[in-house]
Amino acid sequence: MRNADLVARDLKSVWHPCTQMKDHETLPLIPIKRGEGVWLEDFEGNRYIDAVSSWWVNLFGHANPRINSAIQEQIGQLEHVILAGFSHEPVVNLSERLIEVTPEGLNKCFYADNGSSAIEAALKMSYHYWKNHGKPGKKNFVNLSNSYHGETLGALALGDVALYKDTYQPLLMEVLTAPSPDAYNKEPGETDEEYALRQFEAMDKLLAEKHDEICAVVVEPLIQCAGGMRMHHPVYHTKLREACDRYGVHLIADEIAVGFGRTGTLFACEQSGITPDFMCLSKGLTAGYLPLSVVLTTDNVYNAFYDDYETMRAFLHSHSYTGNPIGCAVALATLDIFRDENVIENNRQLSRCMAESVAHLADHPNVGDIRQHGMTMAIEMVKDKASKTPFPWQERRGIRVYKHSLTRQALLRPLGNVLYFMPPYVITEEQIRHLAQVATEGIEIAVKD
Ligand SMILES: *Cc1c(COP(=O)(O)O)cnc(C)c1O
Repeated sequence: MRNADLVARDLKSVWHPCTQMKDHETLPLIPIKRGEGVWLEDFEGNRYIDAVSSWWVNLFGHANPRINSAIQEQIGQLEHVILAGFSHEPVVNLSERLIEVTPEGLNKCFYADNGSSAIEAALKMSYHYWKNHGKPGKKNFVNLSNSYHGETLGALALGDVALYKDTYQPLLMEVLTAPSPDAYNKEPGETDEEYALRQFEAMDKLLAEKHDEICAVVVEPLIQCAGGMRMHHPVYHTKLREACDRYGVHLIADEIAVGFGRTGTLFACEQSGITPDFMCLSKGLTAGYLPLSVVLTTDNVYNAFYDDYETMRAFLHSHSYTGNPIGCAVALATLDIFRDENVIENNRQLSRCMAESVAHLADHPNVGDIRQHGMTMAIEMVKDKASKTPFPWQERRGIRVYKHSLTRQALLRPLGNVLYFMPPYVITEEQIRHLAQVATEGIEIAVKD
């Protein structure tokens, strides 16, 4: 079979995510036959380095032998069982291990099957906690500008990326928005930390005024990924934790994208030295293999629901595939790899290599910013460097980089005008330098005329 055969059939029957399908009249759809390590291979033997970890999920490469065998072993035992009234070994082992590796004080694990569902569960739990404590007037949530928390209606309402949200605005609950600490917007001469502290003042004021009606503040610690890989200083969350305690408001950390080492530490919250009331994990949880998510929370939250059935305080929320044993077995294998292979430590060298490989672009007249937290590095293309004037979105310059990358054995899929590397941790320094070369060529092509 050739690529074109499968593509023709695909376009007759498949509706692809986050895609204007008409684009595929000119933009190639690429059918992948197999994957191995950082490589994806199509039906004609063309190979691509998966520089975006297949939408930020893959951690240890495609067809990882250790994870493959964990699946095979689990499938021989138990593929799935209802998690209400029943339990199984992988879900117990995984919960114990997650409690061990996440910030101190997160002691209970509630499972769902994708990131958005984890956010929805955390929102409902937070509201319900306050209701069980006799405070039903707490029913609003606070988010940050430019945030993203998923696509289901509750998660979408909580986000602030116009591209995904505006169309559906009439369907969405109202939320309160505080300005993001995004360091891209700092003043000349200001440090990231100073800017984060300055931006925090508005959050503090909002909480001071409205805490009686607020359940929780929801944040993406350190990187707003879907919002264009925008980054900020960890001090913001240290301050936010203090303020949430002061005002009696929950803190929900959405580590769905940044968890499992993307920012250089296993979890981003570690860099702020905080424990959130809820931590949502998905994506890297299963190293890019299977849909699974979890909300970790505190004994304090759990205990607010623990009572006789007739009091109607229980959290009566579920999904069919909650805590799927194969997903849990994969997550356990993932944590084993982190433990046995010194991943976080080894990633430091890869992070340094990423920084060095693109350092020459800092002076480029159409590069407005190069930023990095650990294993996530982004380059923002601009029309005018001094004023950071963006290229108009209608020009779709990022797609030119994408198209070029495909001719150079790389999958670099920019977010608008933001090019980024978020590779699997099995990438080599040589492969990183190749990506940097492709990015450099791609930027030249993208900024022309
Ligand atoms: C991807 C993502 C989500 C949503 O997860 P899905 O599994 O796509 O529903 C939520 N929050 C953040 C920060 C994400 O990156």
